[in-house]
Order: sequence, then C-alpha cells, then structure tokens
Amino acid sequence: MRFTKAFIPTLKESPADAEVVSHRLMIRAGMIRKLASGIYDLLPLGLKAIRRVETIVREEMDRADAQEVLLPVVLPAGLWKESGRWELYGKELLRLKDRGDREFCLGPTHEEAITDMVRREVRSYRDLPLNLYQIQIKFRDEMRPRFGLMRAREFIMKDAYSFHATDECAEREYENMRQTYTRIFHRCGLEFTCVEAETGTIGGSFSHEFMVLADTGESSIVVCQACGYSANTERAEIAPPRTPPAPAEKGEPPGEVHTPGKKGVDEVAAFLGVSPEQLIKTLIFTTEQGPVAACVRGTEEVNPEKLKRAAGVETVELADDRTIEEATGGAAGFSGPVGLLKVPVIADYSVMDMKDAVTGANKRDYHLVGVTPGVDFNPTYMDIRVAKGGDPCPRCSTAMILKRGIEVGHIFKLGVKYSESMGALFIDESGRERPIIMGCYGIGIGRTVAASIEQNHDEAGIIWPAPLAPYHVHLLPVNMNDEKTRKKADSLYETLRMEGYSVLYDDRDIGAGIKFKDADLLGMPLRLTVSGRTLKEDSVEIRKRRSGSQELVHLDEVVAFLERFLRGVEERPSMNP
Ligand code: ATP
Ligand code: MG
Repeated sequence: MRFTKAFIPTLKESPADAEVVSHRLMIRAGMIRKLASGIYDLLPLGLKAIRRVETIVREEMDRADAQEVLLPVVLPAGLWKESGRWELYGKELLRLKDRGDREFCLGPTHEEAITDMVRREVRSYRDLPLNLYQIQIKFRDEMRPRFGLMRAREFIMKDAYSFHATDECAEREYENMRQTYTRIFHRCGLEFTCVEAETGTIGGSFSHEFMVLADTGESSIVVCQACGYSANTERAEIAPPRTPPAPAEKGEPPGEVHTPGKKGVDEVAAFLGVSPEQLIKTLIFTTEQGPVAACVRGTEEVNPEKLKRAAGVETVELADDRTIEEATGGAAGFSGPVGLLKVPVIADYSVMDMKDAVTGANKRDYHLVGVTPGVDFNPTYMDIRVAKGGDPCPRCSTAMILKRGIEVGHIFKLGVKYSESMGALFIDESGRERPIIMGCYGIGIGRTVAASIEQNHDEAGIIWPAPLAPYHVHLLPVNMNDEKTRKKADSLYETLRMEGYSVLYDDRDIGAGIKFKDADLLGMPLRLTVSGRTLKEDSVEIRKRRSGSQELVHLDEVVAFLERFLRGVEERPSMNP
C-alpha cells in the first residue's frame, strides 16, 4: 500500500480518555476511532490486524474440525425466554422492538440461537458430535466500557458451540478446544496462561480462561510455580491448613466493648488499637434456603461463588438491614458468630487458628474481644475467601503468586443447561430420548489485538509480532525527490509485492524525521530504508523493530532476508495484498 493513497490518520497526541497503552497506540496509529462510548470504527490498519487474528483463528478451528456458520445478530426474545436468560441477563442485554412490537435483543453470545438451530436438525446420536463456530459482532451494554477494543460494547467474537451424545465425547472436545486455543494464542505471538475459571452468566459445569499476562489486565490470577496450578482469583481454591491448629484452651469468656458508630473493619481496628488481622468479619447473606453467616479474617474478602458451593445453594446475596436484624438480633454492621443460633455459620479456614479475636456482638454499637474460634463458637470450616498472592496452592500448598491478566479466551463445559431448558434432544443408541451435551468456546478478537499491543510496545509505538502485523514490511525511501532513490524504492515495492509480502510504502514527499517516527509508531516488524547512502552500495538498510538492530542488505538479497526473518517467526507470511 502506498502511504499517499492510504487512510492512516496518525496522531501525535494521545486522546485524553485513553487509560491504557494499547488504546492510546491504536488511536495514535490511526487503527480505530470512537463513534460512541464502547463503539468504534475500525480503520484499514485496525481491520488488517483484526483480520490477521481471524485468519489464525479460522485456520486452527478448521484444523480442529469445527465448521464455520454465521447466525443473526438480532435475536428474537422468545429464545431467551425459553432459556430463562431474558430475565437473568440484566442490563447488558440490549433489547429492542420491531415495527410490529415484537421483542428482540442484540446477541451478546449465542447459546440460545445455536441451540435452536441444532434442535431443529439433529435427531439421533448419528448426527453428533458437531462443533459450529462463527466470527461475528456481539453487543453487550457493558456498565463501564473502556480501554478501547479491550472492553467495548460492540466487539468481534469468535464463538463456537459443540454438541455431543456422551459426556466423554464432550470432554474430549473440550480438551481439543483447549489445545486449539493454545495453538491460536501461540501463533499470535502472545505470552499467556490457561487458568481455571468461574462460569458466570454463561453457566455450565467447569471452565478455563486464557489470560494474556499484562499489568493492565482487569483479571487477577494466582499461579503456583511449583506444580503449575493456576486460576482466576474468582475461582482459585486455597489449601486448608496442613495440620489443624491445636485445640484452643478455654480461657476467659469474650468481653463486650462499646464501639459507638464503629462499623467497618479498619474503623473498629483503629478504635480498639488492634490490627485488622485480629478481626473476624461476619457477613450475612440471603440464599434461597434462608440466611447464612460467612466469617473471614478482617483483611480477607468473601468469595460469593465459593460460599454458594460451601452452603450448597444456588444464589447468595448480601442481606439487607432488616434480614440482618432478624437473623442476628442485632444491628447491621455489628454481626458476629458468637451466640448466633438462628443461622448456619460458615467460617473460612483462615479463621481456624485465630485467638483473642474481635467480632461484632450482634448488638448495636458493641463488639466482642477475646473471642476464640472452636471455643466461643463452632462454625463449619470451608474455603470461602477470595484468593490472593501468598495463599497456599490447593494441590501442593506452595505459596501462590498473584498476577494480572487480560482474558482473551474462555472455554466452558456447558452440559445440558441449554439443551434441557430449550428441548434440544436426540435419540441415543438404546433408543432413549436425551438432552444433547454441550460445550462453548469464545475468543475476543479485538481484545486479542489490544492485548498483543499491551505486551509488545515501547515509548515510540507498537511492536507487532509478525503474525499479527498489518504489513510485514515498512518501506521507507528517505528522499522522494531524489530520482534514483524513488526509482529503486518503486521497483523494490513491486518486487516485494510480487513475492507475496505485504508492504506499506511510505512514498510521501515529507521530512525523513516524520517518516521514521511514523514507522516506529505503526510498528511493522521490518523497516527497509532506501537512501543515497545505502544505494551507493546497492543496498537497503533493514531495521528490526523489536531489537532495533540494523544492517545493510544488498538489493539482490532482500527477498532472501525477508524469507529467513519471517520463517523464523512464523511458518510463512499469509498473503495479504
Ligand atoms: P469479561 O469477564 O472480561 O467481561 P466475559 O466473561 O463476560 O468477559 P465471555 O462471555 O467469556 O466474556 O466472552 C468470551 C470472550 O469475549 C472473552 O474471553 C473476551 O475475550 C471477549 N469479550 C467479552 N466481553 C468483551 C468486551 N466487552 N469487549 C471486548 N471483548 C470482550
Ligand atoms: Mg469470561
């Protein structure tokens, strides 16, 4: 592409609302422009990078025997009512009506739509298994769209759905997709890790997320460097204490202290002159089976998903003041486990070995001091807190490390959640009718491009890994007014294009300084500089964007150089006119 014909509106300044480097660089490099909050135009360079990821995704999904389809973006409400998600999905689902007042939504994900398509066609186990995928625009009315394409409202997703007659088959496909995702993100040149994850509103029995490691990531994960266990902190288990603490001795009973208006952990700790570690935080949750009390150390957070599993319930929500008063007999903000008889008390393992702790007294403006778990109250001990760095690994008890990540992919074993509610049935080998077993697998295409920039940039701009680079080569004649330079650059441009390389040819008649700055900003893996000086030796100067190393290469050797360089970083550059 000749720069003089290209639509690459680069900017010197970063936009004020761009908080992360990938967002800033994508705007400055003229890849994207904001149309409305979380809604972006993709300009030619941005679209090229997106297409690079899509091509890799398509090649690998096809290789894994998945088949591409394309379902509608506008989905009838009826399907979502069948699955129950019309009510559950909340405000992220953008709902609309047609001229006949019929309800629709913009698809945020396509479990319902694909289950509907498959239930109409699949009859018997002979029609299974199937894995169908699409690369398509999704809409989610995110509460806080930000970071450009990373958390947009309208975004491109690859979503795949698999259908099986048996659990074993579904689990084999899950593993197939896990390996496929690993290949995809490797080919994208990303540093990533696959972690155990929660299933959220998509649901199902288990799931893994693919996380690109980056300090700006919105997800936190814990990793055990000894055994390789890694999980989203929303999900991560924490090992119980290896040896249970010795039974506590019965000492003085707890004493009541007056703590007027002191509610929060830090406030109470400061008021009593103890460390927040010494407090047992007691939260009352409502569940479909009635209230439950959850106790963690003052410095820890309750993980609602773990609490659900520990209490054996489907829903947990923080209780309102009235429920707290009914359950504890005391005011909200002063709850504690001692003498709490009406509700089950679940305490985190980390509470087990506390002594002389401080808790609420279930009485307005009072706390208890000198509380000993196991003596003054007897909870059920479970793992119910949010994991953090330093917590013991559930597999080997080594202290885990906290990292931040960007979730680029998510795979789920769905089971029969959608097929059961929507009646997607098949006849099994013994002639029985059963719900189809499903899995689903998503990749954020735009988010993957943004994540790549988060990992690959410097102060001057983007550093594209060759497989995602919009162009492989940035051809830069220093002075277009010099006839010899222009002619050689023109002919090199033609040669490289004939050889199948994608070339951005900066044929602008402007100062070399601006051209070099733009080349660094746009970040193509190789910059080929042509000037009077290089031509004296019938050469061009080839500079590698990542290492900054440069060398003179004879004009006859340029193609061989590119071939070697690109073969080193990927098998063969895919053709790109
Ligand atoms: P998150 O927790 O980041 O909101 P999610 O769990 O809601 O993501 P999934 O439903 O698993 O996301 O969607 C599959 C993939 O789609 C994600 O792994 C992510 O790469 C991408 N994705 C999800 N939401 C967005 C968004 N708002 N903008 C861009 N990509 C997104
Ligand atoms: Mg997710």
